[in-house]
Amino acid sequence: MTFSSLGLAEPLLQALGELDYKTPTPVQAQAIPAILGGRDLMAAAQTGTGKTAGFALPLLQRLAMEGTRAASNAVRAVILVPTRELAVQVHESITAYGRHLPLRTYAVYGGVSINPQMMKLRKGLDILVATPGRLLDLHSKNAVKFAQLQALVLDEADRMLDLGFSREIDALLALFPKRRQTLLFSATFSDPIRTLAASLLANPLSIDASPRNTTAANIKQWLVPVDKKRKTDLFVHLLKKHGWRQVLVFVKTRNGVDQLVDTLTAKGYQADSIHGDKPQPARLRALDRFKAGEADILVATDVAARGLDIDDLPHVVNFDLPIVAEDYIHRTGRTGRAGATGEAVSLVCADEVQLLSAIEGLLKKTLSREEEPGFEPEHRVPMTDARGQVLKKPKKPKKSKLAKAAGAA
Ligand code: AMP
Repeated sequence: MTFSSLGLAEPLLQALGELDYKTPTPVQAQAIPAILGGRDLMAAAQTGTGKTAGFALPLLQRLAMEGTRAASNAVRAVILVPTRELAVQVHESITAYGRHLPLRTYAVYGGVSINPQMMKLRKGLDILVATPGRLLDLHSKNAVKFAQLQALVLDEADRMLDLGFSREIDALLALFPKRRQTLLFSATFSDPIRTLAASLLANPLSIDASPRNTTAANIKQWLVPVDKKRKTDLFVHLLKKHGWRQVLVFVKTRNGVDQLVDTLTAKGYQADSIHGDKPQPARLRALDRFKAGEADILVATDVAARGLDIDDLPHVVNFDLPIVAEDYIHRTGRTGRAGATGEAVSLVCADEVQLLSAIEGLLKKTLSREEEPGFEPEHRVPMTDARGQVLKKPKKPKKSKLAKAAGAA
């Protein structure tokens, strides 16, 4: 199959040729014709399978073909994303795909000054990528108008519709015109979210380009059981032992991130961090340094888990397991992208066994355990099974008094 057989126009085919995209991925093959035909869509696709191009290409084409101009402060299409980093990344992809089309696109997100964003919106935009909170702020300042909005994309839709965002999403939906094309893309869809999503869509086409709640097959995943207090030592040991460069490490708390970066820096490693307490420019700078290979280790909270596309990222380390099992899939999805191989290792202590079993239940498989010599834990991590259950230790048979007496002798 080729991109041209999907009905894409020459300026887009030219850009894809320049980017060396040769064949459409499964989600692209299904989504592109449907979106070009005006359908609403609910698409489940694994991370790293090309879903951004799946919605961006047909959207660019529809907007370009119509040739209408966006009025002052108006936007013709909105793409909502959960994080600022993802907004930047999706916009970069759209700029690359649309480089031969005369469309105006932009990304807005919080944590940076709102004024340049208001200026940019003045002339109107064809596509606006936005985080929900900042889009509402812009609307309250009359900087953005939705009367011309004809297409809405919810990227990482499960998270967008999740509790954390539901009020903002509801507020925005009330502002958007009812007649529009709506596209939902996500790596994971829980059943309640599917039901909620269905209420937003008109006669949607449902695409399942990958089995639900799975990680890519080309990622080697394993865990190392370890005592909580020895995690840092173990991590440094693994770094040395495997000679890892370009490692993305996930830590539960912002404090934990800072501590690990301090330890690594003291040991002479080039490490940087991304978390919610850091100002936006510093976060983007850390990501750029990591992508450019200037920092070998990027330590992050789950802010960085979703959507970031880092070429050839070979190693993901879960220093702490995520609280939400689905985030494990998003974290490991940072490696093994676009068919490359990758590895994801989790350092698991006894306290985390419930989190581990929730992850294994979601994946419907157990992660292989590989003890690291010298780091065998004193507090054993209880065994778990692929149904997401923690197995009770078999009770030791009680010794009889006689046997005890014999043993003591
Ligand atoms: P995404 O899942 O949208 O984040 O895309 C993951 C990666 O795959 C990105 O680096 C894209 O540039 C790349 N990609 C997307 N579609 C294709 C394609 N058809 N051929 C080659 N690479 C692709």
